[in-house]
Amino acid sequence: MHLGPGFRGVQVVGSLTVVSAEPFHPEPGTAGSGPSRLIAGARFLLRSVSHVAAVPVFFSYGAVLALLNPRRGTPVPAEISEVLRPWTADLEWPRVRIVAPALIPTGHLGVTIGHRIYLRSRPEPLDVRWRDLVLHELAHVRQVERMGLLGFAHGYGVEWARTLSYRDHPMEIEARNSAGHSARFTDAAPPTTDRG
Ligand SMILES: [Zn+2]
Repeated sequence: MHLGPGFRGVQVVGSLTVVSAEPFHPEPGTAGSGPSRLIAGARFLLRSVSHVAAVPVFFSYGAVLALLNPRRGTPVPAEISEVLRPWTADLEWPRVRIVAPALIPTGHLGVTIGHRIYLRSRPEPLDVRWRDLVLHELAHVRQVERMGLLGFAHGYGVEWARTLSYRDHPMEIEARNSAGHSARFTDAAPPTTDRG
């Protein structure tokens, strides 16, 4: 009789249907339901657009910061550059300028555009958190030197669109790890200054 095989066929199709509709471990943006498909689609679109938009967005934001903070900036304070030099020896120090306190409309503590570092707080070279923030931004300067300004702008935007977070952004992870070095010349390890 063909009833047996036919029945098993229905079972297989039924199982597949169940698995497809209710995954046991749905991942954000990958599950099969309508809203999550929409999110997955939106994220795919964002990742695609980021390849084209990353550079213009970066330079537009840089222009806004320059307009809001029309100052040349100051070199990195000696108190900081002296202690940080061992970890940033490969940096083009003379090109680095710090603009602080700066107006940063996106609410970040610090933003690095090329060799120009915008910091929301006023310079406090003896404050370990401020040093840590500078070291974090100097890591971004080093990325700029390594990748070139266009490469940095493109890479940062594309990774932002992919991760949608500071925590998982590979260039932010690198900067946070770099900032961790400041604990070596201070008594207490400071909290990591994220947001930048
Ligand atoms: Zn950062």
